[in-house]
Formats: sequence, structure tokens, C-alpha cells
Amino acid sequence: MQNYTPHITPWPKTLIRGFFRYCPRCGEGRLFKGYLTPHSKCSACSLNFELLNADDGPAYITMGLVCLFLIPFFFIAQARYEPPFALALLISLPLTLIIILGLLPFIKGAFIAALWKSGGDN
Ligand SMILES: [Zn+2]
Repeated sequence: MQNYTPHITPWPKTLIRGFFRYCPRCGEGRLFKGYLTPHSKCSACSLNFELLNADDGPAYITMGLVCLFLIPFFFIAQARYEPPFALALLISLPLTLIIILGLLPFIKGAFIAALWKSGGDN
């Protein structure tokens, strides 16, 4: 049995494991059983994922990151190409939604990994 204490695994490795939706402790078991629903425990090392409750944190981080990068992009596109308002909405709203929904599971995985690394399962 390996020693799986959080202080042994470095932060970058832990976050990368979580980002790619693997168990932050062993890196072998899958973190989610669906789009955003975590398994109750890791299939490889039995880490209890139910104690690592992410709540709304990943959603706030994802929306913050997407807005940080997309809002300047939309302003630049508006200033440069001056598209009609309806066309700008038709492009920007679905694009924002797709990026947020695509990024959310990865951010949630990294967030759960950060919770485990910081001792959230104690
Ligand atoms: Zn594991």
C-alpha cells in the first residue's frame, strides 16, 4: 500500500490530476461518473470524494476566467468589425455558454484536487 498523504504529492501534479478528472491522490481512478457528479470514492485508492464538496466554487472560477478572457475579445471584435447587435449576440452568447460548459468539469476536477491537497478531506 502506497503512502497517499497530501503533503507528499506536489501541488502542480495534484492540480493536473484533478484537471484531467483523475483522483488527486493516486491519479488512477476517475473522479466523475457523469458530467459533474463525483464518484463516492476512488476505485483505485478508496479516497472518499464525498468529503471533498466543491459547492459553487468551480462555477465562480469558470465564469470569472471566461469573462476575463472573452469580454475583452468581444470588445475588440466589436470595435474592429462593428457587427450588428443581433449578430454579435447570436455569436457571443452561445460561444460563452459552450466555453463555460466545456471548461467547468476540468475546473471542478482541479478544484476538488485543491480541496484534497489543502486538507479538505480531514
Ligand atoms: Zn485514487
